Amino acid sequence: MIEPDNTIDEEKRLKFLKKLHLLDTPIEERFERITRIVCQALDVPIAAISLIDSERQWFKSIQGLDVSETSRKVSFCGHTILQEEVLIVPDALKDERFFDNPLVTSDPKIRFYAGCPLTLGDNFRIGSLCAIDQAPREMTDDQILLLSDLAAMVQSELNNIALTEAHSSLIHDLKEAERAALIDPLTRLWNRAGGQNLLDREWDYAVRRGTPLSVAMVDIDHFKQINDSFGHCIGDQVLQKVSETLLGSLRTFDVVSRWGGEEFLIILPGCEKRDLYLALERLMSAVQNLKMKTDIGALDTTVSIGAATIFPKSNTDVAAFIKLVDMTMYEAKEQGRNQFKVASKPDYYELAI
Ligand code: GH3
Ligand code: MG
Ligand code: MG
Repeated sequence: MIEPDNTIDEEKRLKFLKKLHLLDTPIEERFERITRIVCQALDVPIAAISLIDSERQWFKSIQGLDVSETSRKVSFCGHTILQEEVLIVPDALKDERFFDNPLVTSDPKIRFYAGCPLTLGDNFRIGSLCAIDQAPREMTDDQILLLSDLAAMVQSELNNIALTEAHSSLIHDLKEAERAALIDPLTRLWNRAGGQNLLDREWDYAVRRGTPLSVAMVDIDHFKQINDSFGHCIGDQVLQKVSETLLGSLRTFDVVSRWGGEEFLIILPGCEKRDLYLALERLMSAVQNLKMKTDIGALDTTVSIGAATIFPKSNTDVAAFIKLVDMTMYEAKEQGRNQFKVASKPDYYELAI
């Protein structure tokens, strides 16, 4: 095995990468979408957007593997960023750089790899968009072009700001390790502490600007039965599928956080009540249409949702508002589950401290 060298501009490259504030952030639909397309279009089981940090490769998005990082020493993408063009490894066992690499000799048993460098700023190769298979294969010119085009889409997404000011401030105010502690490892969404931190910030912004804020609590129905019937591992797959589906049916600026075991808190900044209804209808039908593909086949899963909209004022209490949203979710449960309910009177005067 040959470990990847540092790039010739390593110091400046790392400085640039850190300034992007991407490492140790939650997954985002705009990147998930692209790695899903790589899997479908190239018919590979694994695809990733890998960012090369000093000692590790960290995945902004990864399909087909439940990891968020590996060491840089064993990374294929570490080699990709040393060149301008796409790196293709048709059979890792026949390549002196990789034949005895632990990612080749044991799980995930990589045999084929194709990675396109992601170039940003002053020509810094910060990472790669890659496709991986567990069998050797070749790539056609059209497939190489497709991967390059999708990498260009990742680059332009990386240049876009797709977060609210409050969300950006949360990410910028925290160091990488602090952010990592606020991310749920299973779903790679903000965990409850992260969601609460973001909610407080969105609340402050809404107070200052006089804008509305909508919040929804989503709880999976009869989830305990799924665990009891099929085991915890299938339960985990269902949690991942539901979180992906929620993320995929919201606007870019909305945020899903894992609030509890099988509960998700969704924050919809600037969202008025009538738009909240539309968003919830979209969410419900996305979950209902979801043929939850798990290792044991398709499972039907439903959710109950409680939601409310508020124009928060400085004397209104975020905790009381969340309590209202939570109570509304329980009303949806009591009324038969598999439905959403919007609080009829999210009147901030009633919520005043
Ligand atoms: P309801 O429709 O009333 O919400 O019923 P429920 O079964 O969904 O609710 P309940 O609160 O009784 O059960 C939630 C279950 O979620 C219990 C717990 O074991 C399970 N759970 C919590 N966290 C995880 C997790 O990370 N993975 C898995 N597989 N299960 C989890
Ligand atoms: Mg629950
Ligand atoms: Mg539940």
